[in-house]
Amino acid sequence: MAAATRPFADLAERVLAGDRRAIGRAISVCENADPAAEPLIAELWPHAGRAMTVGVTGPPGVGKSTLAGALVGHLRSLGKSVGVIAIDPSSPFTRGALLGDRIRMSDHFLDPEVFIRSMGTRGHLGGVAEATFLAMLVLDAAGKDVLLVETVGVGQSEVEVRSLVDVVSLVLQPGSGDSIQAIKAGLMEIPDVICLNKRDHPAAASARRELHHALALGEEETRPVVVESAAVEGEGIVELWDALEDRRERLGPDGLRQRRRENLAQELVTIAAARSSARLRRLIGDELGGRLLDRLDAGEIDPVRAVAELQDAARDDT
Ligand code: GDP
Repeated sequence: MAAATRPFADLAERVLAGDRRAIGRAISVCENADPAAEPLIAELWPHAGRAMTVGVTGPPGVGKSTLAGALVGHLRSLGKSVGVIAIDPSSPFTRGALLGDRIRMSDHFLDPEVFIRSMGTRGHLGGVAEATFLAMLVLDAAGKDVLLVETVGVGQSEVEVRSLVDVVSLVLQPGSGDSIQAIKAGLMEIPDVICLNKRDHPAAASARRELHHALALGEEETRPVVVESAAVEGEGIVELWDALEDRRERLGPDGLRQRRRENLAQELVTIAAARSSARLRRLIGDELGGRLLDRLDAGEIDPVRAVAELQDAARDDT
């Protein structure tokens, strides 16, 4: 096939070789739901699965970005290459937007072994969940040893980090009452590790008590490990990393395989649902939707019939 019809012909090869520009390009291709993404992903998929993937999640302002930056520093000192995907719900930008909060990451921008990408939750043709999943696949296939995925929010956020990664850390800070809220919402079983950051805060001691008390109410087997950090000072970073690695190792090869399989099942549903939903929204806003609503209005059809017709139209619309 002529090169002109396969503009990304050697992209997969270059990604597999760890070429930074190719990695950036490949992630953009995936974000934009470019038709070239399909063959690219098909070529990369057999090479993925080697990276250790870690979620860093929690409410805004608790220090996730600072922690992620410090973790990158620690991982580099261990000789590991790192990919970071920061999902920023407020940003409409998709191409590595460097926002105020991410500035701490700038220490690592020139390091060829570190690849950082910030993603807005809008502006992805295929949806942010799909873009994130595929960006991770690209970085994994490119040979990054560790992938950090930073998301804002505790559960029910736009991108659920749980099904994207091997292990999850939930970051909390003293004085905000977030831990109690999270426990009430039953979310303490989600993270593998809870990182109580800002341990230099005056309310740290009471937050520690509150957290341990709350965790004691839950099942011992599923209880997250608690570590404390002062991310700005770089304190507690080694402990956080060790706890994450330990949790992953404790899964064992079979446990990890099982967790990844369950995650993949969840991701497939999430991505397929996002695609269907986008298609249905497009159709209902179109001529077809207008006709359906007119017929409903005129009493010619009922809503159940309208749903069936909408679904038929979505099936035919590829
Ligand atoms: P994110 O929104 O969760 O990513 O939080 P950031 O990493 O942007 O941090 C929010 C603010 O908390 C910034 O001003 C940080 O400098 C500060 N911060 C982060 N870690 C610590 C810490 O351990 N102690 C204190 N006192 N401040 C911190």
